[in-house]
Amino acid sequence: MKEMTTRDFRNQSAEASHNATLRAVLTHATGYFMGKRAASLDAFPGRDEHFARARAARLNALSRLPELLEELERNATAAGTQVHWAADAAEARALITGIAQAVGARVIVKGKSMVTEEIALNPALEAAGAEVWETDLGEFIVQLAKEPPSHIIAPAIHKSRQDVAELFAEKLNLHGQSIPELTLLARQALREKFLAADMGITGANMAVAQTGSVILVENEGNIRMSTTCPPVHVALMSLEKVVATLEDAADLLRVLPRSATGQKMSSYVSVLTGPRKQGETDGAREMHLVILDNGRSGLLADPVLREALACFRCGACLNSCPVYQTIGGHAYGSVYSGPIGTLLSSLLLPPDQTRDLPYGCTLCGACARTCPLGINHPKLMLALRQRVAGERANPFAAAHSMLARHPLAYRFAATAARALDPHLELLTRLPGMSGLAEFVDSRQPPELKKPFSARGRAAKKEQK
Ligand code: SF4
Repeated sequence: MKEMTTRDFRNQSAEASHNATLRAVLTHATGYFMGKRAASLDAFPGRDEHFARARAARLNALSRLPELLEELERNATAAGTQVHWAADAAEARALITGIAQAVGARVIVKGKSMVTEEIALNPALEAAGAEVWETDLGEFIVQLAKEPPSHIIAPAIHKSRQDVAELFAEKLNLHGQSIPELTLLARQALREKFLAADMGITGANMAVAQTGSVILVENEGNIRMSTTCPPVHVALMSLEKVVATLEDAADLLRVLPRSATGQKMSSYVSVLTGPRKQGETDGAREMHLVILDNGRSGLLADPVLREALACFRCGACLNSCPVYQTIGGHAYGSVYSGPIGTLLSSLLLPPDQTRDLPYGCTLCGACARTCPLGINHPKLMLALRQRVAGERANPFAAAHSMLARHPLAYRFAATAARALDPHLELLTRLPGMSGLAEFVDSRQPPELKKPFSARGRAAKKEQK
């Protein structure tokens, strides 16, 4: 698979939109998730009140973040967890590879974690000599295929059952056809890795300041194995995932699985408060929590865009998004895709790499209607577009905005532009005129050449 980048989002999304097989797989999978979600939420008593409590828990945490992170560090340390702070991806990679080398980790098992994808942890660990195994089934599949995940909760959503059967045959010489068969093969292949692992690495769905606990939610049991079989567990958490109290965590846990997979509760919820204590029979003997910033603390100062940090990654906005359903996750060129991925990538990556992302949104609002935390994606997309437009400082955009506020001048300019229309494309090639290209749509169908105002007047006349 060729490498995708956010910078090339325009071409990648155009190309992906022509892939009929991908669209069919995505339509089926996102429809499945949305169906399960709708059925679960219909049967959720007091749903709106629970959504409001979950949103309040996240917004409260964001408004008190520095204080809660300090409390988390204090309480986690008291429970025996070693807490580390990483300002950026490079620092987090160095910290975790340092821990791996210090404990002599040769085999590492991982639970699914988008934030470890964000910092490109696996290549760093492999370069340091470790063998790294993804143990979530979807992550295992994309690791074998040497692809990034294409969905925040279903990394291999773009793969059909046949794709996975061929992949297992080619890479593992294991042969199966049905989903239960393939799952069993993956389980058998991974079981020996759990037993051989020197270290387990996970993300964190949330961490509780009040108790210093890390909470992990999953369905396969692989995270439970990754945190209890190896002697060392490292959890990497982006700093916004902290919540104040166990009660807040419970409010979020009531909503997260229902919104993600339509389950009342995930099959496994692990609450890890420090390493194994004396007399306990399982759990890692050494536990580390790495708290990652990577651009987030700067974002907290933005009164509008900070709302994106409230997300708890249920993935529902991806499933509801007509653009995601058409192009899938890889076309975004970032580990985070879909509506929330567009926001996070645009806010966390350098602006010159992500300018086109917010324009890949239709502003239909399906994401905002779906989000259980009430995140208003379209409003944030518009704020991002404003930011991009400001950076581009296009004099034609400024002139258009001025004209739009003065109807008479606008009409005059529009009449002049229509007269010039056959030559506009030619004009954009002159020095200093490239900014005009944004306002020229050479593919405009002939029936739309008539001014909008004239068509409005004609339509009114017809109605009369
Ligand atoms: S933005 Fe909302 S719907 Fe999308 S992943 Fe985050 S919490 Fe879920």
